[in-house]
Amino acid sequence: MKPLSNPQLSKLLLALFALSVASGCAEEDQPANLVLISIDSLRADHVHTYGYDRETSPNLDAFGEGGVVFEEALSPTAWTLQGHASMLSGRTPRVCMTSEENLRVREQVPLLAELLKAKGYRTGAVHSAHFLKAEFGFDRGFDSYQFFKNKKSKWDLQDEANRKLIASVGQEPFFLFFHFMSVHTPYDPPKEHSIFERPYSGVLNREKNGEQVGSIFEGEMSIDEHDRDYLIDLYDQAIHHTDRRVGALLQELYDHIDLSRTYIMITSDHGEEFMEHSSILHTRTLYEEVLRIPMMLRGPTVPNGARVTTRASLVDVVPTLLELLSLPAPPGLNGQSLVPSWGPDATDPPPLELATYYPKMRASKWGLRTSTHKLVLDMNTGEKFLFDLEADPEELINLYPSPESEELEALLRQHSEPKYGTEMNVSAEDLEELRQLGYVE
Ligand SMILES: [Zn+2]
Repeated sequence: MKPLSNPQLSKLLLALFALSVASGCAEEDQPANLVLISIDSLRADHVHTYGYDRETSPNLDAFGEGGVVFEEALSPTAWTLQGHASMLSGRTPRVCMTSEENLRVREQVPLLAELLKAKGYRTGAVHSAHFLKAEFGFDRGFDSYQFFKNKKSKWDLQDEANRKLIASVGQEPFFLFFHFMSVHTPYDPPKEHSIFERPYSGVLNREKNGEQVGSIFEGEMSIDEHDRDYLIDLYDQAIHHTDRRVGALLQELYDHIDLSRTYIMITSDHGEEFMEHSSILHTRTLYEEVLRIPMMLRGPTVPNGARVTTRASLVDVVPTLLELLSLPAPPGLNGQSLVPSWGPDATDPPPLELATYYPKMRASKWGLRTSTHKLVLDMNTGEKFLFDLEADPEELINLYPSPESEELEALLRQHSEPKYGTEMNVSAEDLEELRQLGYVE
């Protein structure tokens, strides 16, 4: 058998998906619509409905009350490109990424917009992250794909583009993706959101916080607790500001679309660090402050006010949304549908494979997270960590080596080590499915 080139394989996977839609799951009614909202860098424990004492997020809280809140939602990674690749592909970063010259989503991996486009959906996106630009592969499947720089002067323009995109939807089913970057550094919310700011005099300068946080991240500047608290205040205000932007977007949706036919999910690509483990921002560690994200869902078949405590993750987004839209999942996904999680048949999911590779720092970590433990291997230094998340939720005591770490490492090593420059291996199972359909010999 000749190996398939990337574009060939991508076409085959999409054809396979379209065929399964046509043969098995055709609906008489028009399919439901979908809206996915990503709030970059939003850690769950700074969202009020996730237990934060500050009221940072009135609009998110209200949204959650009208649907399902996944209390234990995780990113499998630590930064924007990999987090969104997992969110939009249903695969872990090891599987869906490549880093030849530029980090890109692997071409063979179908993205949610492509899958929905194949089913006749109209697709549109408005985003604000450099690493979500078309050059990284994220525009695939979108009829329109607009980028706005994350700058104070551009926020109104982006919000206006959001409104126009909503106003443009017609009779056909639609998938809209909205991404907000205004929680990310520089923390620069308008002054009217300065409601959490404690008096501060120290080395940090509000106007230069983006640059300064970069220096702290690089180890060129050190801060004390007082400085850190100031950054947390700014971060919380950025959340409050972004929550208002998201609230305006939700209102626009509520006013203009048929909610009885539309699913809306809100989540984030990763969290943020504030020196809990001597690091700031995100990208190079896999601690809970980086992994734990909000995830909320509402729609016609989603219960109101449900709080799900079984583990969820970004790799579950695609299978969940496809199930809600009565569409089959393509082969090879690493996640599973969360629909059973709010019903009587909720079960604990399999361990989540973690990986972060940040080229600028050459940081590379690989791990596994169960509901109670986390194994992390530092692929550069060879250091290994095991944390008991129940006994030690702050991840301060390294239990490696131990019987648990041996077991988890054996499980992790059933996968090949992440090699970001190599081609994706198509699993034997996927190949068999393609073979049975006559796509490969
Ligand atoms: Zn991000």
